[in-house]
Amino acid sequence: MINHHPKFELIKSFVNGDLPASLSAGIAIHADMCAVCQQTISQLTEQVAEHSFEEVYLDRFIVDNESLETVAAIDFNHMINDIVESSDIDIALPAVEKTVSFNDKQYTIPAVLSSMKLGKSSHIGKLTRSRILLNENEIHSSLLHIQPGGGIPEHTHKGFELTVLLDGSFHDESGEYVKGDFIMLDGSHQHNPVSTNGCLCFTVANDALHFTQGINKLLNPIGSFIY
Ligand SMILES: [Zn+2]
Repeated sequence: MINHHPKFELIKSFVNGDLPASLSAGIAIHADMCAVCQQTISQLTEQVAEHSFEEVYLDRFIVDNESLETVAAIDFNHMINDIVESSDIDIALPAVEKTVSFNDKQYTIPAVLSSMKLGKSSHIGKLTRSRILLNENEIHSSLLHIQPGGGIPEHTHKGFELTVLLDGSFHDESGEYVKGDFIMLDGSHQHNPVSTNGCLCFTVANDALHFTQGINKLLNPIGSFIY
């Protein structure tokens, strides 16, 4: 069962269109698997739609009392035409299912990522990373695959690190994470994730990992690799 959800403030920014593409994708992927957040998103979307509707059309209804009814009736027709003719309405294309394979296993890529370009895969030990080419400067997005028994040495983050579990599970000091979990961490968190049975994650980070134990210098390549 999904236990980790985006915070309400983050969902609000998502609905308002204020998030970078990578974080938006993370929320959309999670919401595809989470009925609770899906409902929050549609409620907020409705509110935002109503609000912008009022902003655009309210001034048209402010008229003197005598002509109020006529003007309102005419404007209502205009309004419907505006909406029907609006080029803002996206025409949804049928989703094409795309798969990606890691370590001889095939995974279906979440619909929201299927139109994004994937970079080459690179490996370190039991980790494989495919960069998602979004060109968001310091924000890097990737698919990260961990083979059974693989993990990431204990670390913290200088910036933020978002992980959305697409398949499989992993655990750290705070517990077990399963498919669909949305895990947003920052410098106040320190953890050592390990995947017993393997997993595939969508990750977004805006800085390299910072290792907290032992041979930091030796681990730095892994930090840049994950970021
Ligand atoms: Zn949720």
